[in-house]
Amino acid sequence: MIVSVTGATGFIGRRLVQRLHADDHSVRVLTRLRSKAELIFPVKDFPGVIIAEEAEWKDCIQGSNAVVNLAGMPISTRWSAEVKKEIKQSRIRVTSKVVDLINNSPEGARPTVLVSATAVGYYGTSETQVFDESSPSGNDYLAEVCREWEATAVKVNKDVRLVLIRNGVVLGKEGGALAKMIPVFMMFAGGPLGSGRQWFSWIHLDDIVSLIYEALSNPSYKGVINGTAPNPVRLAEMCEHMGNVLGRPSWLPVPDFALKAVFGEGASVVLEGQRVVPAKAKELGFSFKYSYVKEALKAILL
Ligand code: NDP
Repeated sequence: MIVSVTGATGFIGRRLVQRLHADDHSVRVLTRLRSKAELIFPVKDFPGVIIAEEAEWKDCIQGSNAVVNLAGMPISTRWSAEVKKEIKQSRIRVTSKVVDLINNSPEGARPTVLVSATAVGYYGTSETQVFDESSPSGNDYLAEVCREWEATAVKVNKDVRLVLIRNGVVLGKEGGALAKMIPVFMMFAGGPLGSGRQWFSWIHLDDIVSLIYEALSNPSYKGVINGTAPNPVRLAEMCEHMGNVLGRPSWLPVPDFALKAVFGEGASVVLEGQRVVPAKAKELGFSFKYSYVKEALKAILL
């Protein structure tokens, strides 16, 4: 399979490209900056991987069998009005470009599947509700971002199989929320973050990559799929497991301000969560390698 990937240089994208390349698929890395991508995917380790800046995306997408769209400005940052605009616009801009390039590809050279990222922020936040793919969208800023991001992807030609993966918080060593949480956690003796009652819908990096991988090749994967593990936890439980795995006491709460110092307003993803279940992935028979956060944390941190 020939797969073009935007956001390939990011936390999830890197692992996805490694996996596709290891399985002998042809990968086209669609990036804004060739020099950065070349450092991440050096030719000696990734022979055959094509790296393309925006002007070359058209040639890459034409003739690809599939496109994975992961690009977007990171949200774990300070949210000035300008940054908030770019968090939304970066996703809409790249998705819109990808969709136009797919739609304008001549028949016969048009990719047949688009797997496009979105996030569980779509549902808004709640301490009591359980959200699955049929739940309505929330009404906060991140819900609005996700709605518009998804609405842009939905404009892809109806003959193209579209899979929208609503990612939960992806756990892995090399990046994402966990890499930022650990130092804060260590500094403050590792208790609950905020009240601890918030829901934390997580997924291990290996599982999100497998879900995307499966979505590329399995025609039953269509529409919205929550990319979350089967057992979301309250943040207090997540922190207790982190404390145990990292050998930190877990009784002294980590103050909100400490998290906000690291994540900016992006801390809301951790401090105001939602309980999201992967109803569709289960229905499709997707097999999670990590169903419980304790096992996922052990695999990542030990
Ligand atoms: P990263 O932040 O690690 O990487 C995203 C990539 O997007 C970057 O490598 C970069 O690629 C590109 N990018 C960054 N800023 C911009 C910008 N201003 N305009 C256009 N492109 C930009 O993301 P992840 O791998 O963690 O996540 C992939 C997608 O999944 C993201 O869209 C994210 O919002 C979503 N998601 C991730 C979650 C997680 O826990 N990781 C949770 C929920 C959703 P390049 O420089 O090569 O162009």
